[in-house]
Amino acid sequence: MERVIYLDNNATTKVDDAVIEEMMPYFGQWYGNPSSMHSFGGRVAKSIQEARGRIAELLGCQADEIIFTSGGTESNNTAIHGTLAAYPRKRKIITTRVEHPAVLSPCRQLEQQGYEIYELSVDRQGRLNADELAEVLDDNTALVSIMYANNETGVIFPIEEIGALCRARGVPFHTDAVQAVGKVPIHLKDSTIDMLSLSGHKIHAPKGIGVLFVRRGVRLVPFILGGHQESGRRGGTENVPGIVGLGKAAQLAQQYLNDENTRVRALRDALEAKILATCPDSMVNGDRRNRLPNTLNVSFEYVEGESILMLLNQFGICASSGSACTSGSLEPSHVMRAMGVPFTAAHGSVRFSLSRFTTQEEVDFVGEKIGPIIHRLRELSPFVKSA
Ligand SMILES: *Cc1c(COP(=O)(O)O)cnc(C)c1O
Repeated sequence: MERVIYLDNNATTKVDDAVIEEMMPYFGQWYGNPSSMHSFGGRVAKSIQEARGRIAELLGCQADEIIFTSGGTESNNTAIHGTLAAYPRKRKIITTRVEHPAVLSPCRQLEQQGYEIYELSVDRQGRLNADELAEVLDDNTALVSIMYANNETGVIFPIEEIGALCRARGVPFHTDAVQAVGKVPIHLKDSTIDMLSLSGHKIHAPKGIGVLFVRRGVRLVPFILGGHQESGRRGGTENVPGIVGLGKAAQLAQQYLNDENTRVRALRDALEAKILATCPDSMVNGDRRNRLPNTLNVSFEYVEGESILMLLNQFGICASSGSACTSGSLEPSHVMRAMGVPFTAAHGSVRFSLSRFTTQEEVDFVGEKIGPIIHRLRELSPFVKSA
């Protein structure tokens, strides 16, 4: 296979070799069911508990506050539906306009069923205003669900401030931290977060495994009903290799947290500087002072994000665009629209997301290619102002 330069780590990440190595015995030798009475199954149950401990260590919480799920989507759905079921008389959910579909879609469905959904707005920099939350929080609110950091822009939200407002009103607070884990230090013990979602495949573990943290004492009705796995909180025979892999990935995430915030951040900043210097009429989307260290979202005026991706792809460069080419029409993403990014800029937005596997050489290569690509596309673009 030809060389791939992977700058799409907010979509998914490479599984770390050490994670694969940790998982392998659980496909073969250790295939027992952790719920079995015999010690062959018990050996597997012990491995699950070890993984739970490693994740609790990364998050700074208790091991019994960790529920394994099939991923970020299930964790979010569980937090939402499980909380509503625990507070059947409350009919309102507060979230934001820029959540991942794994929060927005269940909320839209609940709206159809008569729930009131309030979506907080963001400003032009993609920032959330906690004062707006304070105004709309009321006794009818069953849940506040607000992401820790946005997957498209990397903007980090004032999660502790939000959690403190919720706690003062006695309203449970869930955060989709899928993009924040491993990039931002998280210490749940001294936090106002009641529930937190994370996903394995965003932190160098496989797809199909995730976690919902539920603080001791927080009420949650099980969402997936079945056997008594996960202390009766999530039915279904455990994804043992996935869990063991996620445990290893959590341990590595802790080790690499500093690297993300120094080396990876510097690479991201260098790429940003190179793009802004070589591409006229380009601008960064999202608050540059409060962003995930790995994420860079840039708008290139007068060109389609999709066209940029296609040309990057010819060099083996993987990135993603802020417009979704579904149903044939190019709609700017809901995040760009919520931020009020102008039409022409939103269409030309591209997200570069780095990881601990990203090298200086790769960033230099992308930095060399992007200027000529934008120049070439603008020569063809019907939107370009005549100079
Ligand atoms: C990827 C992602 C999800 C979904 O996680 P899956 O494990 O793919 O279901 C949810 N929220 C955010 C912010 C994400 O980036």
